[in-house]
Amino acid sequence: MIKKRKNKIELSQIKERSWVEIDLSNFSHNINELKKHFSANQSFMQIVKADAYGHGALQIAIQAQKDGASILGVANVEEASLLRFNHIDLPILILSPSFDFEIESIVHYKLIPSVNNIEFVEKLDLYAKKMAVKQPIHIKCDTGMNRNGVKIEQAYNLYQQIKKLDNILIEGVFSHFSSSENDKQFTQHQYKLFLDFAAQVQSEVRYIHIANSSAVANSDFAMCNLHRLGLLTYGVYSDQSIKEKVNLKPVMTFKSRLSHISIAKKNESIGYNRTFYAEHDIKYAIIPVGYADGYDFLLSNNAFVEINGAICPILGKVSMDMIAVDISQIDNAQIGDMVTLLGGSSEQTRVEFLSSSFKGSSYELLTQIGKRAKRYYLQNGKINDFAPVLRRDFIPKDFSDDKLNKIIHQALEERITKKELASVIYHDILKFFFIESDRDISYRSNFFYSINFTENDEPYYNVELQLKFDKILQNSYFIVACANNQKALESYFNRKDTEYRWLLDDSIEFQASRFKVSSAKVNDIELDCNTNLINNAIEIKCASELLEPMLNKLAHFEISIKTFYPKDRHQLSVYLSEIYKGVTISFTYPKSIENIDCVPIFSGKHRYPKVEQHDREIIVASSAEDWVFPNSGVVFSY
Ligand SMILES: *Cc1c(COP(=O)(O)O)cnc(C)c1O
Repeated sequence: MIKKRKNKIELSQIKERSWVEIDLSNFSHNINELKKHFSANQSFMQIVKADAYGHGALQIAIQAQKDGASILGVANVEEASLLRFNHIDLPILILSPSFDFEIESIVHYKLIPSVNNIEFVEKLDLYAKKMAVKQPIHIKCDTGMNRNGVKIEQAYNLYQQIKKLDNILIEGVFSHFSSSENDKQFTQHQYKLFLDFAAQVQSEVRYIHIANSSAVANSDFAMCNLHRLGLLTYGVYSDQSIKEKVNLKPVMTFKSRLSHISIAKKNESIGYNRTFYAEHDIKYAIIPVGYADGYDFLLSNNAFVEINGAICPILGKVSMDMIAVDISQIDNAQIGDMVTLLGGSSEQTRVEFLSSSFKGSSYELLTQIGKRAKRYYLQNGKINDFAPVLRRDFIPKDFSDDKLNKIIHQALEERITKKELASVIYHDILKFFFIESDRDISYRSNFFYSINFTENDEPYYNVELQLKFDKILQNSYFIVACANNQKALESYFNRKDTEYRWLLDDSIEFQASRFKVSSAKVNDIELDCNTNLINNAIEIKCASELLEPMLNKLAHFEISIKTFYPKDRHQLSVYLSEIYKGVTISFTYPKSIENIDCVPIFSGKHRYPKVEQHDREIIVASSAEDWVFPNSGVVFSY
């Protein structure tokens, strides 16, 4: 049985400075309103370009597919491949012309380009042949918009040329209206031109389409079997006249909170450049949203927000990160109170109203709103998803260790339904993987590694290395290896019997006296160390028969080494090639080294080990219980 995912957050629990709510139920409602204007043979393409007009292309695509979309429309290859990365497998039409250099991606991601010239299609055909695929395309015709597309008079000619190409499938022909929301005459003119061409090819192509969402609301286009729906599905009217034809509900709401409350005395000004003066004492609030959040600068002194049902005017200029609003009419406004800036219940917060107040475009305002905001997706008034991805760059809060741990915990909990059990599994999961189930993989615990540089008259420092760790004893010996080039050392990384590897700088003469194991112990048993020069490496075998009875048991290792390091290298890298539980690395240096920098690169549960600086010693340590994964390390530079 599949357990339905519980709603983890309530709307009232949102802790954000500003956020966007996307109401998917309203989106479905709008699609159904538009479908009332379809005839039986017509389906639709959901337009999700520009991250679905700022609503989030992935979630809108998923919802549109549920609501019957047979194809998606995007602006370019990049938008389309993002959807493919997220496992959207509906056909995707690229509405803008593609470049030659995008052909590989078009084929790879199974996308459909709009084409308007034979040169591009011939190149596409060649590549499709090479990849042994039949590549679908739609021919875009220009019927008077004069933006892109083959001129309608030449469309049939292009059609016939493309038809000859073996690896191209003409799946659709289309055109685009310039003013379908309010110019019936020009729209009909464009439609007629398109039909003259479309009628000639209709029996051979799968899709004939011209109408955007406003066109669908205004008229029927009986010769077409596909409509391209954008703006109206997002609940925004492109023209007042459309209100009588479809009932739309806004999908996007932009919200924030009062972050500061104050009073401006009579005759004081508010904001940059003193564009607003208080005619009497005025109580105002600051909202932490500005034009950098997409709240347009041109809304300065020229818009309203909703607070507790009241309509409050913006005072003064919109700043980059703040706006001031008049809250005189609100009796007990508190810091933290919610504000709706767009998509509220009042006419004044509708996108259409806001954009027309500065002669802007609703399309533009939608795509710019909430640049810094996380989107929450609502279904029947409840949050069912949220998405910082696709929109913001890395934000530490989204991926913090705490959060990741919580996610793993929750995932286990949901599967196991028992908190304690989930916790036990979580803590033992790695141990189980590495010890119980796979004997070949081992790990070191309580790993302690100290590096001690001391002065020397030569151009090198004396180096004393000490390692202490616990590990299952697999052999009655182990190898410590040293080489003066990476290649020679590499073979030792693949050998399970090697406990330590050191790269001797090539400025130091390569001889056994330059790298010595001064002591090697397992469980306090001193091992015999034999040095061999093999294949450009100093190989030291540390062994004792006394270890035989201890095999396959946890043992304590201690290794001490003496070697050298050039003074002029100015950098020492420590590389952790195995799995560790608890790591401490100590670097001690002589007086002559003054400034030392330490950059740990840890992978594992915690990325940032503790770094302590003492007198001439730096200690880098993870906590004893933390797993540290291979490819971690520290770079000391001096
Ligand atoms: C954006 C776009 C649409 C959608 O138009 P709306 O007015 O948002 O419905 C349709 N067709 C093409 C070619 C587009 O670029």
